[in-house]
Amino acid sequence: MSDFKKLEDFDFNGKRVLVRVDLNVPVADGKVTDNTRIVRLGPTMSHIIEHGGTPVLLSHFGRPKGKVNPEFSLRFIVNTIKNAFGQPVEFVETDWSDVSAAKSKLDAGAKGTIYVMENTRFHPGEEANDDELATRMASLGDIYLNDAFSAAHRAHASTAAIAHKLPSGAGRAMETELSALQKGLGQPQKPVIAIVGGAKVSTKIDLLENLVTKVEALVIGGGMANTFLHAQGIDIGKSLCEKDLAETARRIYDKAADANCAIILPIDGVVAWHFEAGAPNRTYGVEAMDQTGMMLDVGDRSIERIKGAIDEAKTLIWNGPLGAFELDPFGKGTIAIAHYAAKRTNDGKLVSVAGGGDTVAALAKAKVVNDFSYVSTAGGAFLEWMEGKPLPGVEALKN
Ligand code: AMP
Repeated sequence: MSDFKKLEDFDFNGKRVLVRVDLNVPVADGKVTDNTRIVRLGPTMSHIIEHGGTPVLLSHFGRPKGKVNPEFSLRFIVNTIKNAFGQPVEFVETDWSDVSAAKSKLDAGAKGTIYVMENTRFHPGEEANDDELATRMASLGDIYLNDAFSAAHRAHASTAAIAHKLPSGAGRAMETELSALQKGLGQPQKPVIAIVGGAKVSTKIDLLENLVTKVEALVIGGGMANTFLHAQGIDIGKSLCEKDLAETARRIYDKAADANCAIILPIDGVVAWHFEAGAPNRTYGVEAMDQTGMMLDVGDRSIERIKGAIDEAKTLIWNGPLGAFELDPFGKGTIAIAHYAAKRTNDGKLVSVAGGGDTVAALAKAKVVNDFSYVSTAGGAFLEWMEGKPLPGVEALKN
């Protein structure tokens, strides 16, 4: 983290602080259904205000595709922010082609108020990382902070170009996320075990190829394990499988062998004949699969094997469920491993880092989100980080 300026490195007194946040929260019937991302901004907001600065929030919302569209206005979110921080919050009408009126409103503003600018994606320059738009954005403040790890995989005007126009640094949420990820994969305590699950290999090839070079053991579960079993000549019946990726699976195996990474595949699976909750099911060893059914979860022997592998690790990094966890009882394997990892973490034996949309949902179902060392709510950015790719929004903050 020494590459970045943090909150403590700035004098905020009398300064207007542009903070890139992620207000792209889930909304139903005009109401925010999960305000986790907003709540996590609390420490940055209070630090700026307590030190005499004025936060001015920049964020995208939805996909208005570079055009002004009232459906995607950020005006509605003012009340949610007010309730989260108990601070006055004002919305600033913003024409991103000409910010002079917005600037006058900010100039006349009050100390201790949080200002929310209009959706940055109302201008095509945002997604184009346009330099002129970034200059206009920068003219609204004195300091730039990025507190939106979940938007850091995009090189946009408000995440990348702007950082070169003002003294820039990471907000507290960004700093916390980066240091947690550093403990997960950057400079982890070894041995490290990774668990990767989910439906398909095709969406996670880069991720698997990066992980096998960095971790000591890689557990592959979920639908994607079927492709690996198939590649080893095991008949997996009607299970979800990307047969055309058998060669890719073998390449990942070879790469793992070269890097001394053990690949741990399911040895048994819970088989059902319908993809639905409550479907009748039976557990089979993978060598003796029923040819008419599909594996929807890892079996009890696999669960024990994975627990044993976790016992040998000091760090766990996890993305993707081990089975079709949304359909009971096929979440049993994922939930059992989630409970076990939570227990090892609480016992002080494991650093556990997890992320990705389905993974967060699965850990929430297991009620262990707060027992893990860190759970990232960033979807795409977390995956790109697991793939080992530099994140433009993080790179732009480096001194
Ligand atoms: P992903 O978005 O790639 O992480 O995939 C998550 C999805 O994979 C979830 O909706 C799971 O239901 C699904 N999934 C996990 N295991 C299986 C399986 N064995 N068969 C079919 N779908 C699965």
